[in-house]
Amino acid sequence: MKTQLERAKEGEITPQMEEAAGYDNVCPEFIREGVARGWIVIHGNPHRKSRVVGIGKGLRTKVNASIGTSPDIIDIEMEVEKARTAEKYGADTLMELSTGGDLTSIRARVLKAINLSVGTVPLYQAAIETIRKTESVVNMDPDFLFDTIEKQAEEGISFMAIHCGVNRLVLERLKKQGYRFGGLVSRGGAFLTAWIEHNQKENPLYEQIDRLIDIMKRHDVILSLGNGLRAGAVHDSTDRAQIQELIINSEIAEYAQSRGVQCIVEGPGHIPIDEIEANVLLQKRLSNNAPFYMLGPITTDVAPGYDHISSAIGAALSSMYGADFICYVTPPEHLALPTVEDVREGVMAARIATHVGDMVKLKDKIKDRDLKMAVARRDLDWETQYNTAISSERAREIRKSRPPMDEDTCTMCGKLCSLKTVKGYYQPYLEKGRKKRAETPNGPKIPTLAL
Ligand code: SF4
Repeated sequence: MKTQLERAKEGEITPQMEEAAGYDNVCPEFIREGVARGWIVIHGNPHRKSRVVGIGKGLRTKVNASIGTSPDIIDIEMEVEKARTAEKYGADTLMELSTGGDLTSIRARVLKAINLSVGTVPLYQAAIETIRKTESVVNMDPDFLFDTIEKQAEEGISFMAIHCGVNRLVLERLKKQGYRFGGLVSRGGAFLTAWIEHNQKENPLYEQIDRLIDIMKRHDVILSLGNGLRAGAVHDSTDRAQIQELIINSEIAEYAQSRGVQCIVEGPGHIPIDEIEANVLLQKRLSNNAPFYMLGPITTDVAPGYDHISSAIGAALSSMYGADFICYVTPPEHLALPTVEDVREGVMAARIATHVGDMVKLKDKIKDRDLKMAVARRDLDWETQYNTAISSERAREIRKSRPPMDEDTCTMCGKLCSLKTVKGYYQPYLEKGRKKRAETPNGPKIPTLAL
């Protein structure tokens, strides 16, 4: 079986490429070329039919929602509900990251419940099942890890976060720089670090990279090169260990792509806002523009309870500078397992953030929606406002909960509504204004919208 990447290189436009093109409203050839160059990835695993979205250069920034049990809270119905909620509120992909209970059957339930492309971290299952049997991850058998990866690929997993870049060289950097203020926060990174240090052996996912690539290729799974040493504190951001891992992941991405495997390179983590641009630039340069999956990023460490906001700020800037894929963060990050409501909040915060970033990254293609909203607000056209909103449900709900005395307005100003006060005086000038602004070289283009 040929992978989507191999088929794209041969000039073929596959049904998956067509579907991804439709999702982003671009032509299929744009997707084919992006896939062929390693700039765009799409779902290719033939074992599961799912919605195909393109992630990468020139496309809208996509949002991932992660769900999953923990050892402390194992409520399968809640996880299924969280997956459905993520899909309902507009997540583009889902990561099923359960670490408590029967991991295979939870995953099966989630895969059945939704139509989104699903990603996993197979190392979790291999590590957890080893811990259950032997009490420590350091006893994990590399063969068991590779078998687990292949089994999950056979279930139809679209992309897998795999921490190939956490190798002995990276851990040396970590020691030489004097460890970190915030420690290690990636679960996959921590499992592998403990395994490498205890056994004094190389990471099998790095040492046996061809074995891993063979599995990814057999099932056309996207290899998402995990950021196992991502900073978990803004003061650790962009340090030598993180950059060393990025260099290794970028080299692996180049090699895996040359063997027909689609790749994503993952990034941090926690980053102060003045380092976001540098992180995106470095990742893009080092990986030859492989899609960049930014995890958050969280931009301050002092907002527990509101980390969906601190990460939305980071996501907006990341998306503006060129990140392609954002993992959402929910309000209880660092505090507790998210609830269904937290998933909804996390998805909405990330969707707003990526829209804000895409307004700069993709310009008019995205900004037209804001223009439509502006005009609907000016004209007090509430139905268009609802339909243009990122969450029409929420907008409707709020206005309906406090109905105005004058139905044209809202209860914010009531009869003092400024838009209504001046409505009618400027109607004759609208056409003139539209033409003038359309002719202004650097002004907004408004050719298609009826004002
Ligand atoms: S009442 Fe105030 S807030 Fe509401 S639409 Fe009019 S100007 Fe806007």
